[in-house]
Amino acid sequence: MRGSAVVRLALSLLLLALPLWGQQLELRFLDVGQGDAVLVREGRKTAVIDAGPSGDVALRLRALGIDTIDLAVASHNHVDHIGGMAVILSQFVVRFYLDNGLPHTTATYQRTIQAVAASGAQYLGPTARTITLGSARLRVMPPPPGGGDRSGGRADQNNSSVGIVVEFGDFRALLTGDSELPELEYWLRHDTVPGVQVAKVAHHGSWNGTSREWVERTHPAAAVISVGAGNSYGHPSAQTLALWEAVGARMYRTDRDGGVLMLANRDGTFVVRTETAPATGIITVRPYPADSAPTARASGQAAARACCKICARGKACGNSCISRSYQCRQPPGCACDARP
Ligand SMILES: [Zn+2]
Repeated sequence: MRGSAVVRLALSLLLLALPLWGQQLELRFLDVGQGDAVLVREGRKTAVIDAGPSGDVALRLRALGIDTIDLAVASHNHVDHIGGMAVILSQFVVRFYLDNGLPHTTATYQRTIQAVAASGAQYLGPTARTITLGSARLRVMPPPPGGGDRSGGRADQNNSSVGIVVEFGDFRALLTGDSELPELEYWLRHDTVPGVQVAKVAHHGSWNGTSREWVERTHPAAAVISVGAGNSYGHPSAQTLALWEAVGARMYRTDRDGGVLMLANRDGTFVVRTETAPATGIITVRPYPADSAPTARASGQAAARACCKICARGKACGNSCISRSYQCRQPPGCACDARP
């Protein structure tokens, strides 16, 4: 291993004290306050989806050993999603840049689009396409034609968010920017909205970024809200939290959990670590809590004994997935010899 690779590995281990396993997808929700920034890595390939409200995101990416970004995506052109994009484009090698194709009036947008041109990144429009990232695939869900729901002649950035489905074997995650009810409804009627293991809750958990139909269609084991502590918008709303919890989704919030890291396997299983979790702990997530032993933040010995199995289909029973119609006869707290 070359020296630089050793340094990168050491930095990554330091940041969340996590082992890095090969052949896993890394999905990392950065804590950028009120905004979004998500890192996806697989097979030495890197994608960044949104860049938070400021250039601080670049420091975080550097600390994670990143110098090249194969794909940068701006879900839409509001400052809490592209505030750090110009800095990223100027400091990193960015190969492809994709946005919603809807210009915005702000100076931040002007700086961003100028930085795209100066960077040499190849621009991609928000058409239906699938982008390969290592052995993962990022499927683009285009916004509605015509710039979404227009009010007063102004295109609606939120309802023109680009959706991204991250696919890695049987694992799927869905990121939908700040889409609101009109765009969710459009996707439900006009696109293929998959069931997923992980959903990013749209629009920072706002009441208008989640519908019952959307939650039931996506039915994630875990849902992540990227939101700033004490934000003035009142995000996330209690109504939104209740809708996701009603389908058994385990909730993560960057205002409480800090950064949220998910390591996913091809069979759809994944584990979660957060910045505020105990250093030795692994958070066990089960897709259907009602069928399983109570989930908890494990630590120390309990973490080593916790079962990590997450099932894309059926339900967990020890280290196996069984049909939901069968009863699991294993005691809770099984040894988890499945990786991780
Ligand atoms: Zn936003």
